Amino acid sequence: MPEITTQAKTVKDTYRLLINGEYFDSSSGTFFDTHNPATGEKLASVAKASKEDVDRAVAAARTAFETGKWPKQTAAKRARLLNKIASIMRDRFDTLVEVEVLNSGKTVAAAQGQVLQAIEDFEFYAGAISTYSGSTNPMPNGFFNYTQKEPVGVCAQIIPWNYPLMMAAWKIAPALAAGCTIVLKPASYTPLTSYMLADICYEAGLPEGVLNVVTGSGSEIGPYLTEHSDVDKVAFTGETDTGKDIMAKASDTLKRVTLELGGKSPSIVCADCDLEGAVDGSLFGIFYNTGQSCEARSRLFIHEDIYEQFVERFIEKAKKINVGDPFNKGTHMGALISKSHEETVDSYVRLAQEEGGEILLGGKKPEGKEYENGYWYMPTIIGNVTNDMRIAQEEVFGPVVVLMKFKDEKEVLQRANDSIFGLGSAVWTKDHGKAHRLASGLRAGIVMVNNPISAFPGAPFGGYKQSGFGRELGAETLDLYSETKSVVSYVGEKPLNLLGIK
Ligand code: NAD
Repeated sequence: MPEITTQAKTVKDTYRLLINGEYFDSSSGTFFDTHNPATGEKLASVAKASKEDVDRAVAAARTAFETGKWPKQTAAKRARLLNKIASIMRDRFDTLVEVEVLNSGKTVAAAQGQVLQAIEDFEFYAGAISTYSGSTNPMPNGFFNYTQKEPVGVCAQIIPWNYPLMMAAWKIAPALAAGCTIVLKPASYTPLTSYMLADICYEAGLPEGVLNVVTGSGSEIGPYLTEHSDVDKVAFTGETDTGKDIMAKASDTLKRVTLELGGKSPSIVCADCDLEGAVDGSLFGIFYNTGQSCEARSRLFIHEDIYEQFVERFIEKAKKINVGDPFNKGTHMGALISKSHEETVDSYVRLAQEEGGEILLGGKKPEGKEYENGYWYMPTIIGNVTNDMRIAQEEVFGPVVVLMKFKDEKEVLQRANDSIFGLGSAVWTKDHGKAHRLASGLRAGIVMVNNPISAFPGAPFGGYKQSGFGRELGAETLDLYSETKSVVSYVGEKPLNLLGIK
């Protein structure tokens, strides 16, 4: 196997905080390192924001909201700017992909798909905002009511490391479309493409202060942003426990909160499915992005009549997954994000064994010189699992899937729904009626029918239960960045004298 690619042609040495359209060192003058997870090498130094820097970023966003042009801009002008951002992103496609791969360890193919989707998100919201409007409503004679949509205000957007650019686009595009101003806090592992995207937004003509980017310790500046009295909304994607903390902290100022959290998504493989399609889709469902997907189908329920046949083919094909250099076009699975995450994934596999699970494939770091310095794990398949085991209930967030047998629809629905999470889910069957009965019975925000892909710009994405609330993508997300103002007016001929005082 060739050496893992380490060249970082397009990465700068240093990334600084973006506040009010200008770059600054942090007030403390400190930096942290960001790495290439495939090699463990340092990529760049990134400014570490203090609370004081967060105050400045929030103040810039507040001023841009209260006195700037953006919130009052016509939808047509906002749409034009969003399209311009998308167009510059298209011009920089290869660079964005390269930096995303270097900073996250994901494969080129995965990064290409995600950068493309990030571009299409801006294009989608450029279209969606053009037709987004209030309504006129039924009223008694003499009264007239209309609603208008107004931006919610200053939004703190806190994002994770698994889809760095795409998560930034999911958050920034609808917020800008709705006329909000933003303080974005990328994950410390993967801040680089957020800064690149913000650069592009300003190059496209975004007024100063509308988008600010602060990087630094999540446990320090994250809660500070969440509690900040000048922030109107927190949009968060990350772990369920962090989401709970955010919800509690945001309550003091009654901020609007949307939470996109963890998952343990089930996939139901029925006896009458297209076996090859279900195998391929289930491989993609768990091993894409090295299993670091919130909606990774990490619990496979397979009908007992095809269990042996499915598992044999699933393992046979999983053995052919190439793990390695993310830049190599033949690679199917890249690196994990960090050493500590590699240890977490491995500890879950050891736990599964202690619980009685049987490792059918993988269960360890791949061997070889090229894997010594980065963070790696093999595609891992675990059998002999019951749904009550911790390995079937807790999010591993790595390339680890558990297999379980089922007999009938009612029983499999009960087990698939027996989880604190409710984000993704999948159904594999050729029976149209069964597909939609199962889709209707699954307590999850997303059901994929004979399809492994969950995220498209126009389709709402989000969870039930402890997978969070609120949606991303889709036109309805504009509602979550808007307030509805109801204007009630009297249009009768005679003045109203409701107290009847003469
Ligand atoms: P995380 O919760 O550790 O961190 C997410 C972000 O929050 C980071 O920017 C981090 O610095 C910041 N943060 C950390 N502590 C904070 C606090 N107390 N207050 C405010 N912000 C804080 O999550 P992660 O490890 O970066 O991401 C992985 C998780 O994200 C997984 O659980 C995954 O399922 C979830 N995820 C969900 C979706 C979805 O759409 N539902 C999408 C992607 C990832």
